[in-house]
Amino acid sequence: MSIQTALISDFDGTLTPEDFFWYVSERWLDAEALEPWQRYLDGKLSHLEALNLIFSRIREPAAAFDAFIKEIPFDPAFVKTAALCREKNIPFYICSAGCDYYIERIIGAYIREYGIRLVTNHGTYSPDSGLKMFPPAEGSPFYDPEVGISKAALVKKVKEEGYRVVFAGDGPPDIAPAAAADVVFAKRILLEECRKRHIRTCRFDGFEDIYAYLKEM
Ligand SMILES: [Mg+2]
Repeated sequence: MSIQTALISDFDGTLTPEDFFWYVSERWLDAEALEPWQRYLDGKLSHLEALNLIFSRIREPAAAFDAFIKEIPFDPAFVKTAALCREKNIPFYICSAGCDYYIERIIGAYIREYGIRLVTNHGTYSPDSGLKMFPPAEGSPFYDPEVGISKAALVKKVKEEGYRVVFAGDGPPDIAPAAAADVVFAKRILLEECRKRHIRTCRFDGFEDIYAYLKEM
């Protein structure tokens, strides 16, 4: 029997054109509210702490916030890739250092329809305290103090289960999981980092490329 494949994809900037953080800041936040991001880049805050501080500034009514989230576009080839994965028995994981609150509102219907496994932080929203992200409990297999979710731990676990892991991502939290994966679809910062580290990557302009790869396997 040939070895089975699993697909693990990042969400922000990989399945969507930009990070959720970017959409939120474009719409509502000023330079002062975004200051924690600089502190994260300077190594003074964790990724999770910075995002929580920034997201805590959102003060929209919940209905308006949800309506805004539902307008965020996602990759046009995502749905057919999910359908192909189900058809070919390829486990499809979406693994994110963001949170389920917005991922659910953008693609929740497809997550359920195609049995996608979502591994991410939990998020809650209220207009009094903004969007709050909660990492999994310390000691959970995918806990990471920096981003909440260890994507590399997920890649390693799925490999230990005997799968050949195809990983797709775009940002700094995707470097470690890309290094651990068997096949990498990378764009933006992740692509640059993979090149520096001599990690082989596939052409990745969108999920159409992942679809074509999985289809031809
Ligand atoms: Mg990303």
